[in-house]
Amino acid sequence: MRPRFAKWNRTEWILKMGTEQGTKGANGGQAVRPASDVGTPKRTKEIIAKYGFSFKKSLGQNFLIDRNVLNNIVDAAGLDETKGALEIGPGIGALTGRLAEAAGRVAAVEIDQRLIPILNDLFAEDEHVSVIHGDVLKLDLAELFRRQFDGLTGVSVVANLPYYVTTPILMKLLEERLPLENIVVMIQKEVAQRMAAKPGGKEYGSLSVAVQYYCVPELVCTVPHTVFIPQPNVDSAVIKLALRNKPAVDVPDEDFFFRVVQASFAQRRKTLANNLTAFVGKENREALNGLLTGIGIDPVRRGETLSLEEFGRLSRALLEANLSSQPAT
Ligand code: SAM
Repeated sequence: MRPRFAKWNRTEWILKMGTEQGTKGANGGQAVRPASDVGTPKRTKEIIAKYGFSFKKSLGQNFLIDRNVLNNIVDAAGLDETKGALEIGPGIGALTGRLAEAAGRVAAVEIDQRLIPILNDLFAEDEHVSVIHGDVLKLDLAELFRRQFDGLTGVSVVANLPYYVTTPILMKLLEERLPLENIVVMIQKEVAQRMAAKPGGKEYGSLSVAVQYYCVPELVCTVPHTVFIPQPNVDSAVIKLALRNKPAVDVPDEDFFFRVVQASFAQRRKTLANNLTAFVGKENREALNGLLTGIGIDPVRRGETLSLEEFGRLSRALLEANLSSQPAT
């Protein structure tokens, strides 16, 4: 059965609220659906007080309290009722409420057991919302996708991520090759800039290459710390990662490709040839210089100037020449 207000249309919904409950909201007819109005300072404070919730800094708990930011995040995912959304870390449900309005199914994975009863209360009437207690890093996500999103036309990950585990979470999502359309997440601004960075700048590094190998990144907006309770001490940004149908470059051995990338950025002040010497072994230094020149990459360039295509070419050539003294880890 479709949930009552699954397809969000604010005017339509206000009308429904009026007829179904025979009530008018306290503020001039602005009836308020409980779960959809969590992301405001007032409601957040009310819920925290009602359940006696205390924030855990160690779990990266900074809850969103700004409607515009919440709407920007959800809009960027391009959801509709044929699509699903996986939310990582729903907190007290500020974003979950918006996702419930925009998507056909929502699965929200929360690590903090204390938040589960709050979320269950808020979404008790939303049959298309599942609250799952667990650590996203330990869950079998492929199985979760089969169970939650089977038959939908696409799935997005949409989240205000806990900043202490942003990169492991995103790399897990990407490396497991989940059937995702896009990932729209609030993360630390600096990390977002590194993910979206182009070759040549100081922000470009192995994280940029790893993310851009799987996705096309787009910075959606930057966000001041005033839109959270409690306020984090870093700036934030929303980034959209549109999953590519196939990786940006065709490499014969993905693991080897990423090891070459890591090695190329090992010490940013060093030239590519110097960094890669540690990877191929000092005895292969001459051969390395010849190989780089042979594939059109100047050995004195720095890793941060290489495009994904050049990293692909480099890893293929090193593999074919059997040039690596470092065992796979
Ligand atoms: N989505 C809410 C919002 O925007 O207001 C809360 C976002 S808060 C930045 C991050 C949330 O992720 C917290 O609720 C925290 O408990 C949860 N969390 C932290 N580590 C997690 C993990 N490994 N797996 C699932 N949830 C996690």
